[in-house]
Amino acid sequence: MEAKVFTVENRKGGVAKTTTAVTLAAGLAQRLEASGGRVLLVDLDPQGDAARALGLDPGGRCVSYVLTGEGSLRDNVIPADRSADGGPARPNLFVLPASDNLRNAKETLLSQLTVNMVMAQIRGRNTNGDVVPMVSILDERLGPARKVFDYVIIDCPPTLDMLQEAVHQFADAAIVPVKADFHSTSAAGRHTRNILDDQASGIKIAIRAIVPTFVDYRLRLTRSMLQQLTKTYGSLVTMPIPNTVRVAEAPASGGRTVIEYAPESPASTAYWHLVDTIFNGAGGDA
Ligand code: ADP
Ligand code: MG
Repeated sequence: MEAKVFTVENRKGGVAKTTTAVTLAAGLAQRLEASGGRVLLVDLDPQGDAARALGLDPGGRCVSYVLTGEGSLRDNVIPADRSADGGPARPNLFVLPASDNLRNAKETLLSQLTVNMVMAQIRGRNTNGDVVPMVSILDERLGPARKVFDYVIIDCPPTLDMLQEAVHQFADAAIVPVKADFHSTSAAGRHTRNILDDQASGIKIAIRAIVPTFVDYRLRLTRSMLQQLTKTYGSLVTMPIPNTVRVAEAPASGGRTVIEYAPESPASTAYWHLVDTIFNGAGGDA
């Protein structure tokens, strides 16, 4: 069976993309444990938060080496299991971490693409822009993960730049966390539709789930934003993730996800709801 591949993306920073990607990956891995299934979390943000959030040290490994062909998947993927050091047991969760080196990788990729295009022209092949070669580079280098894992979750930076088309071609669908904070929601009063259109317009693949994050039901504006979200996206909107210090504490508490750190927290309940929506393939249309 081929892996299902999801991006977690939003062009805004600080909307809980990494939190959502990491928690979803950990939850899916738990759901798959009995059947021996495996999950790969891919970090495409040079800030490298994904591995850190799980309490892992990438030790020089980076997704950039896989993308440029300088290194293999096998050599750069790290197991997320930390039962040996008294941390959470995650026998079937793996991470392809990112580091600052990902910034340089883009230049290397560009020069590889240029060489590809020139070679194709020399051989008289028809190339239409740089989109196709980039897509095939990504497929060639990340594609093997589809055969080894059941889910691949990609934690995206605010902008994917030159990788955008290829990542969207590679992934099956996007999961979009939308922050329901005061600033977003106050603007939402009149402009909800525009903001959401704007957020979604950079995402040229099927949207699998819209995840309201940082939700505080005490705020009337939050409630109205949730209504607007549901009106626009219908059943794609998943259970809102409450704004709670538990979520922020989790990575700092020994590199845990909130479902590991505070399983009884309402945020964990909401994240499990998202996990099961993806796991059961329920809701939405992707
Ligand atoms: P992004 O990847 O979109 O930039 P992060 O996932 O890194 O966003 O989240 C930004 C910050 O907000 C982090 O410090 C994280 O711990 C915190 N955070 C995320 N979700 C919540 C939440 N539901 N409640 C409180 N804090 C949260
Ligand atoms: Mg992030």
